[in-house]
Amino acid sequence: MSVCDVCNVKLKKDSKRFSSAEVKKAVKAGFRQPSSGISSVIDDIAVREFGPEAKNFMEAQWIKQVMNDNSDWLLCPRCAEELEKKAKGRTKTIIRDVMGVVLSLIALALFILLIRWLSQFVSND
Ligand SMILES: [Zn+2]
Repeated sequence: MSVCDVCNVKLKKDSKRFSSAEVKKAVKAGFRQPSSGISSVIDDIAVREFGPEAKNFMEAQWIKQVMNDNSDWLLCPRCAEELEKKAKGRTKTIIRDVMGVVLSLIALALFILLIRWLSQFVSND
């Protein structure tokens, strides 16, 4: 029986497959291993033995591992939901950023047109 590639729980039929690109995108958006399963036990031991930096180090190692992995990921429903939430959240943020830039440019263009229009009256005087 296979296990979830993120949290190591046993997978049933409701597991979900993701491409490595999708997982990398979600990790860049802040997706991390949940604090349960085998990884949390290792985390606890690491933090107890080496202090809180050990957890940051292990998280960095995990991210590095994800970024170097090009195989598909099989995730449990909980991790799949979390991953999709992160991926979606990032897309929304990008759309909001792009909209912000576009609106600023429109406002700037209108402002320039207004200045030009106003300067016409000034030069006619
Ligand atoms: Zn999982």
